[in-house]
Amino acid sequence: MSADPSFLSALDIGDNQLSFGDSDRENHAGDWGAESRGTGVLPDAVVWPESVRDVSRVLEAATEQGIPVTPYAAGTGLEGNAVPARGGISMDLTRMDSVIEYRPDDFQITVGPGIIGSAVEEYVASEGLFFPPLPSSGDISTIGGMIATDASGMQTVKYGEVADWVLGLKAVLADGSVISTGSRAVKTSSGYNLTELLVGSEGTLGVVTEATLKLAGRPEQIRGGRATFDSLDEATGAVFDAVRSGVDLARIELIDGLSARMANRYLDSGLPDAPTTFVEFHANHGVEREIEFCRSVFEAHNVKRFEITDSEGMADLWEARKELAYAVQSYDPDLQPIHPGDVTVPISDYPEIIAYTKELADEHGLLVPCFGHAGDGNVHYTVLVDFDDPAHVELGEEVYGKIVHRAIELGGTATGEHGIGQGKREYLIEEHGEASVKAMGAIKRALDPAGTLNPGKIFPERVDRRV
Ligand SMILES: Cc1cc2nc3c(=O)[nH]c(=O)nc-3n(C[C@H](O)[C@H](O)[C@H](O)COP(=O)(O)OP(=O)(O)OC[C@H]3O[C@@H](n4cnc5c(N)ncnc54)[C@H](O)[C@@H]3O)c2cc1C
Repeated sequence: MSADPSFLSALDIGDNQLSFGDSDRENHAGDWGAESRGTGVLPDAVVWPESVRDVSRVLEAATEQGIPVTPYAAGTGLEGNAVPARGGISMDLTRMDSVIEYRPDDFQITVGPGIIGSAVEEYVASEGLFFPPLPSSGDISTIGGMIATDASGMQTVKYGEVADWVLGLKAVLADGSVISTGSRAVKTSSGYNLTELLVGSEGTLGVVTEATLKLAGRPEQIRGGRATFDSLDEATGAVFDAVRSGVDLARIELIDGLSARMANRYLDSGLPDAPTTFVEFHANHGVEREIEFCRSVFEAHNVKRFEITDSEGMADLWEARKELAYAVQSYDPDLQPIHPGDVTVPISDYPEIIAYTKELADEHGLLVPCFGHAGDGNVHYTVLVDFDDPAHVELGEEVYGKIVHRAIELGGTATGEHGIGQGKREYLIEEHGEASVKAMGAIKRALDPAGTLNPGKIFPERVDRRV
């Protein structure tokens, strides 16, 4: 649908903050996921707000004019979350990237939404602080995007997800009003928790313009390594047992043998051609005891090799893991990923969801590499298909969907970290039930009755028409 955003020219914002040009519109048509699937949609205009006031003016006027506004940050989302599905305005928040206030004594920092995650880490590093829930994409994605998707990363097993590290927000609602949520206190029982409502709402309820984040002290002892197993069952069993036994893990990632081969071809990373877990331990004292505890748990699962390395070695290990998304994408030029899976299940069901995924892949002769933040019960699985062969694509979609259904059946979720966006809308009711989705719709209508903010996301098609 094409909208007429010409009213933007009359707003009091700078010339360099507004574009109707093709290349700017093309740059905001899709995110990482939509680009790889070719499902981008051109916005009619792009605006770059530089202040809360700019955001407020644009939203107020757009709502009056009935023009959709889709917040856009670094565009690294994987579910088409920032695609302007119904055209209108793409609101690019990346210029609002300053550190607004830093309070190291309180372990807190207040930032603009457009700041890149790793820039926050760099800013606070000299005080020995860090921001623990950064996703693997932390050096290419923004704090606003992470908040909007409730991102999480490799350290979630110890530290939790982004939601656990946001103390308060400033946000602009669709009518242009500005709200503040939360406080600087580390706990509060005051009123509805609007912070948590906005976290994970994918830009459908408000535009985040300021975020107060908690920080953590960097542990004195950081050690890591990897463990290889003969079979995937032994590796997943070891992950479950390590988490259940209370090994103090800061990271525990698993990659299957196929992913290891893909990483080796892409990076020449020299990984063993076998299921491998990557582990990291954080402590202020006694880290060796924790490593030995982990070793003993893994030995009970016939670990083949358990190597602990120094910090240089760790950087190499983590590089292979971090580059996996690219390795999978470039493995075979004839095969491309359909939606990137990020189901997450209770940890006791982790071995089962991995086994089920690999069984389905073998049964249908598909390549489905599995890796991910194993300690959270999270699986990144990628069904690779030949887009020139419609039957292959259909089969891939069917297998992809079966894995999501199984995760939900096990009490898990369709998306542990990437959000629903456009790609996972059909699973929302199955996961939450009709009544809960109706309640979500009521919240959306109350805060954004004209449906200005990021339409065409989260809600399934048939519900969306009523929201
Ligand atoms: C290689 C790679 C690895 C990845 N690894 C991880 C991972 O480990 N964990 C993980 O969780 N994700 C991961 N992702 C996905 C992605 O990086 C995250 O979803 C990230 O949080 C998106 O941030 P962004 O700045 O790119 O936001 P965008 O993609 O631009 O936008 C994401 C969503 O946020 C909304 N939004 C953006 N800014 C605002 C704002 N200020 N106010 C309101 N809404 C806003 C948008 O409308 C959209 O719905 C990965 C992606 C890639 C490409």
